Amino acid sequence: MNFVSRNFSIKAIVCVTIGSLFFTSIMADKKELSESSVAAVSECASACGLPSHVNLSGDRFPVVRTDAEWQERLTEIQYHVARQQGTERPFDNPYHDKKEIGLYRCVGCDTPLFSSTEKYNSGTGWPSFTAPVDQRTIAETKDISYGMTRIEVHCAVCGSHQGHVFSDGPEPTGLRYCINSASLNFQEAATPEAIIELVEAWYEQ
Ligand SMILES: [Zn+2]
Repeated sequence: MNFVSRNFSIKAIVCVTIGSLFFTSIMADKKELSESSVAAVSECASACGLPSHVNLSGDRFPVVRTDAEWQERLTEIQYHVARQQGTERPFDNPYHDKKEIGLYRCVGCDTPLFSSTEKYNSGTGWPSFTAPVDQRTIAETKDISYGMTRIEVHCAVCGSHQGHVFSDGPEPTGLRYCINSASLNFQEAATPEAIIELVEAWYEQ
């Protein structure tokens, strides 16, 4: 069953607006940011480390489970992060420094979300990616909690919170998807091409 093509409009993630002065100041001098830094990493970490307060409740996603079903499927930290928009501790999570080739699937519904191909070391202590593996499976919500304007990202199929996307990432996209390990399950693959085959197989289910 092809959930995505049936249920979603394709959404290009090409224009992420970070409205707060906090992030504007980070973007003001990317060179300085990349060369420094304790201070820059600390600012990134604090922005990633704050939980989200967007409303992802309701039955607007193709995969809907009861709260009891979510708690049965997920561990305590997975439930807290994915279903309560929480955040895990930096560096103390399984995928932040994982370098193996493979596919990162949604912990809530196994949808392909990220690939090792786009993974990089942001220094924040959370898994970081320059792009999702397929833009149709990641959705965004504007998050204005804590006096900041952030872009929250979640699974488009089940609504599980993943993290945030910031515009201080490396080329080619300039984006940094700061994602919680607790929202992901890793599936190892032999090659980058094999990752794409896994994504295609999911669409053909
Ligand atoms: Zn999901």
